[in-house]
Amino acid sequence: MQPFLYNGLPSRVIFGAGSIAQLPAELDRLGAKRALLLSTPEQKNSIDEVAKALGARCAGTYDKAAMHVPLEVAEDARRVARELGADCCVTVGGGSTTGLGKAIALTSTLPILAVPTTYAGSEMTPIYGLTEGGLKKTGRDVRVLPKTVIYDPLLTLSLPAALSAASGMNAIAHCVEALYAHDGNPIISLMAEEGIRALSKALPTVVKELENLEARSDALYGAWLAGVALGAAGMALHHKLCHVLGGFGLPHAETHSIVLPHAMRYNRDAAADAMRRVEKSLEKKDAPGAVWDLEKGLGIPLRLSDIGMKEADIERAARIATEAPYPNPRKVEYGPVLGLLKDAYEGRRPAA
Ligand code: NAD
Repeated sequence: MQPFLYNGLPSRVIFGAGSIAQLPAELDRLGAKRALLLSTPEQKNSIDEVAKALGARCAGTYDKAAMHVPLEVAEDARRVARELGADCCVTVGGGSTTGLGKAIALTSTLPILAVPTTYAGSEMTPIYGLTEGGLKKTGRDVRVLPKTVIYDPLLTLSLPAALSAASGMNAIAHCVEALYAHDGNPIISLMAEEGIRALSKALPTVVKELENLEARSDALYGAWLAGVALGAAGMALHHKLCHVLGGFGLPHAETHSIVLPHAMRYNRDAAADAMRRVEKSLEKKDAPGAVWDLEKGLGIPLRLSDIGMKEADIERAARIATEAPYPNPRKVEYGPVLGLLKDAYEGRRPAA
């Protein structure tokens, strides 16, 4: 056993089908009387329903959450929260909506009660992001960690197959990088292994039977574990590359799925123990190849070229991702990272 540091983050988790009914009691627990409900425009109906159920406890709704939290949206939502005299934010949605709640909490210290409806995992992390002038900056601050998280798998039944698959692989990516994190620890590794197991078993059923509650519950359980792993362990080359590609306008969850097997191949020999753990969770040999096969079976796009990456941008992405050093099992170098991105661009199965 290597020396390690474990820093448990405080959050209260309520998990189960129908658990959204506990929202009023959970608001009481936080001492909140004027909740501001947040969503994307696409999920406005969900917060309208929640607002109806909350009655006078709902101070208002704001439905302009957008991917990567544009600063102007964050500032507009902060203004609305102030004007309504909100004393809590309830986020109903994926990472974009949770991210907007975090932007409000960062400057106001309003508590967040998160109701995640994808597998992105942001609800379990103290990580926030804000995008200004096309540049996304991220930071860590325990003030943005949601105080309470309600995981209700019934709210995930409407998540389309393609997004379910990509979002689930985004969660698996958190687990994989936690397993070889420079600051990992044995508890987080257990959670990461179990997260990969739960998600990889559930996702093939989820994409075939969107309303299979058992598979949806297992996937959301895996997403919770993945979110904890993301919040607790430092991420490496894979997350760095996805962050860079996100700056080029590529969609978040799909980028994660496409890059993951290639980032794993890059790190395979330098992170042998992590790869063994992934193989154990997947019950398959050759971790990078097995992840690629899982994604192929889920019908996920496998080429960066499929999701809008321009060939001319590959070299620039490799340069940005390698210009400053950061911890990664294998040394991060321009040439090999360029090769990784070319493989991901063309969607080749990682070499065994
Ligand atoms: P998202 O939140 O952008 O959601 C994608 C789309 O799916 C949206 O239109 C949304 O309204 C819709 N949607 C969500 N749940 C649905 C459901 N159950 N039914 C139908 N439609 C639904 O996507 P995401 O992948 O969850 O989040 C991506 C964002 O989260 C990125 O900006 C990423 O950087 C951020 N993120 C942050 C962290 C963190 O720790 N800070 C972690 C993971 C992701």
